[in-house]
Amino acid sequence: MKIIKTIEELRPIIKGWKREGLTVGLVPTMGYLHDGHKSLIVKAVSENDKVVVSDFVNPTQFGANEDLSSYPRDIERDAALCEAAGADIIFHPEPEEMYFPDKCTFVDMDKLTKGLCGKTRPVHFSGVCTVVSKLFNIVTPDRAYFGQKDAQQLAVIKRMVRDLNFDITIVGCPIVREADGLALSSRNTYLNAEERKAALILNKSLTIGKEMIEAGEKDVEKVREAITKSLQTEPLAKIDYVEIVNSENMEPMEQINSSVLVAIAVYIGKTRLIDNVML
Ligand code: AMP
Repeated sequence: MKIIKTIEELRPIIKGWKREGLTVGLVPTMGYLHDGHKSLIVKAVSENDKVVVSDFVNPTQFGANEDLSSYPRDIERDAALCEAAGADIIFHPEPEEMYFPDKCTFVDMDKLTKGLCGKTRPVHFSGVCTVVSKLFNIVTPDRAYFGQKDAQQLAVIKRMVRDLNFDITIVGCPIVREADGLALSSRNTYLNAEERKAALILNKSLTIGKEMIEAGEKDVEKVREAITKSLQTEPLAKIDYVEIVNSENMEPMEQINSSVLVAIAVYIGKTRLIDNVML
């Protein structure tokens, strides 16, 4: 497996693969890889002849007061995980390789990006759509793999691919959790021991909502209230949002029916964690 840092070096390799008729899978990540990322890579390896993992902490998707500079990074550890999972290349560019200093073209999206994480992170999805479009143009994959963990991001990428006619299949992959239910995230490393315990309230509260819906509850407000109440029992938790939306268009639901996404964002201390359940 190779670590490649420039577009110039990557393109001829991919063109060579395509000339041989090989299929290419892409797994976009921001690095500091864990078993959640690994599940995407393993799936990509099982469905494609060649797999590229991008490992890039994308500055344009961070707001001014967010954790761009402190975001954890460890390319050597990432490389070992990618190699073990069967990837062929890690694409690990510097920000200067990805963005011209006088860049002035961005990919933006209306509607789907305005609620949930888009409310507190107004520039986030423009950064995500822009970097993912660039990665799609650089890697030209047949398939690209995204986690359900970032459910809004997955819906946004699917919509962008549809609206802009990218000839790429988007594959959504289930959330990987720790044995105690906490969804794996690179940001979990920010949590101290007490916060790590407190973070269990996310999955616990979502499970309460899930069980209500599975038992037939149709009233959005009742489910939202039960989840909110449960989250409020944890003193270290501060709610950013509890939303119940249509999982495809991210629009609020009046009554719970099929394709429902229950998504939450919660600060545990200073760390903002997201989690969701789709029914
Ligand atoms: P990130 O490096 O956090 O930008 O994530 C890269 C990709 O891995 C995204 O598509 C995420 O949704 C996915 N991912 C992150 N955590 C998990 C998880 N716990 N389970 C499944 N996929 C995940």
